[in-house]
Amino acid sequence: MPHNTKYVFVTGGVTSSLGKGIISASLAKLLQSRGYSVTIQKLDPYINVDPGTLNPYEHGECYVTEDGAETDLDLGHYERFINLHTTQANNVTTGRIYQSVINKERKGEYLGKTVQVIPHITDEIKRRIKLLGTKHKFDVVITEIGGTVGDIESLPYIEAVRQLRWELGPTNSVFIHLTLVPYLSASKELKTKPTQHSVKVMLENGIQPDVLVLRTEHKLNDDIRRKVGLFCNVDMDAVIESIDVSTIYEVPLLMQSEKLDVTVLRKLNLPIGEEPALKSWKQFVTKLKNPKKTVNIGLVGKYIELPDAYKSIVESFVHAGAANDCKVNLVSVHSETITNENLSEKLGEFSGIIVAPGFGHRGIEGKILAVKYARENSVPFLGICLGMQCAVVEFARNVLGLADANSTEMSRTTQYPVIDLMEAQKGVTDKGGTMRLGAYPCTLKAGSKAHAAYKQAEVLERHRHRYEFNNAYLSQFEVAGMVATGINPDTNLVEVVEIPTHPWFVGVQFHPEYKSTVVNPHPIFVDFVKASILFNK
Ligand code: GLN
Repeated sequence: MPHNTKYVFVTGGVTSSLGKGIISASLAKLLQSRGYSVTIQKLDPYINVDPGTLNPYEHGECYVTEDGAETDLDLGHYERFINLHTTQANNVTTGRIYQSVINKERKGEYLGKTVQVIPHITDEIKRRIKLLGTKHKFDVVITEIGGTVGDIESLPYIEAVRQLRWELGPTNSVFIHLTLVPYLSASKELKTKPTQHSVKVMLENGIQPDVLVLRTEHKLNDDIRRKVGLFCNVDMDAVIESIDVSTIYEVPLLMQSEKLDVTVLRKLNLPIGEEPALKSWKQFVTKLKNPKKTVNIGLVGKYIELPDAYKSIVESFVHAGAANDCKVNLVSVHSETITNENLSEKLGEFSGIIVAPGFGHRGIEGKILAVKYARENSVPFLGICLGMQCAVVEFARNVLGLADANSTEMSRTTQYPVIDLMEAQKGVTDKGGTMRLGAYPCTLKAGSKAHAAYKQAEVLERHRHRYEFNNAYLSQFEVAGMVATGINPDTNLVEVVEIPTHPWFVGVQFHPEYKSTVVNPHPIFVDFVKASILFNK
């Protein structure tokens, strides 16, 4: 018998940023806890082939999957919630859809036909949605459609899923529409009209939502629920309240009490089974909400105006904090504002300092100064990717005495290129999808901080970079006290540097933040927070 995958489509109305990703991830978590295999996919209506070429100010962090896809940050939420790896197939953009259609056209595969949005673009969208079900055989595929209904650019997606519902037949798909119920404080009223209008737009496009999830700042009473149900043609038990909560990790519990999972399963004609226990999830939320201590950690970066730019790092500290019964008060410091004169004023209040990943010259000297401060004052330090490279440059300049040492990303003419372009990157001219991406193995040295954190010698971590530690300088570094404690076993690329005489000083070329989840808080972050708590004492 062919595997019968069921599909859930999540759309958003009224405004953007309502948290479709969190609702999708929460539903996935609940269905997973009831024993279903679930994955989540994000369709993004922009024309970039992937978000890898986007400035973080545009859409926040670029999330990297195990298989090396540069994806939307919502995939980070999916992985953090359901603790499963996503892949390239989980994030599809309009650019990617058009690219495949145009490539096919150039190969003559459309046999002389006129290539059009309908059916060719919509067919390609449907193929990408079904791929997760047919190839990977999930019980349920949740597809989140980016943007807001009514946008010109999301129209082909809406049409594609309309067709899919018809093709799949009854009880094989569910449409969830997420909207906002605004509160007018002057009249002390919740307003349902924007939701009604948004559903009308869906209807104009041939889709009747089955479930409405209503974002609200205030509780919805039965009258409001009835009104929305009646005017939007949605069953009462399918009008779901999503009230604001203090942490996104409470949303699955909230959706469980609103029975979102039961409603969806019923509409898909799937057995409801036992109530999901969510024991460890609840324990995590309890720990998160009842920390026994607080620690201040400084996050030195240059995209700090936009909190989403370092999303995975921020969430990793939430997980690691809970694991340590501690609230991590993560304070952003703009690296461009750091000077040699204001170091202790800018960084003095922190029990730990993290220097963020990044690209390009802007803000780099402030990051290097932050490393110097952490190293000289024995403040626990974590450098990620560019942050690790800054640690290497700082050590070269201030300990090895190589005055103009630099990364060749910042200075092509430096006399001491301690960080240099990887051999495989020389000659690469295209910017999109050409970095060293995805998971690579790393062997950790016994006795190192990294080894103590992971409690294992072989790890697999995700990457996104073009530059690397220049091994020509390795022995000079090691003699002076900065050692390579993690190495790629195939290429000898330095993955981790440490200063063993410092209480906790670790630089990692990879991105541990992409692999931290609620169930598995990342050991590097857990130990960094632990060291920061000790520094505090
Ligand atoms: N710009 C650096 C490189 O390409 C670091 C990249 C990063 O921090 N993700 O190697």
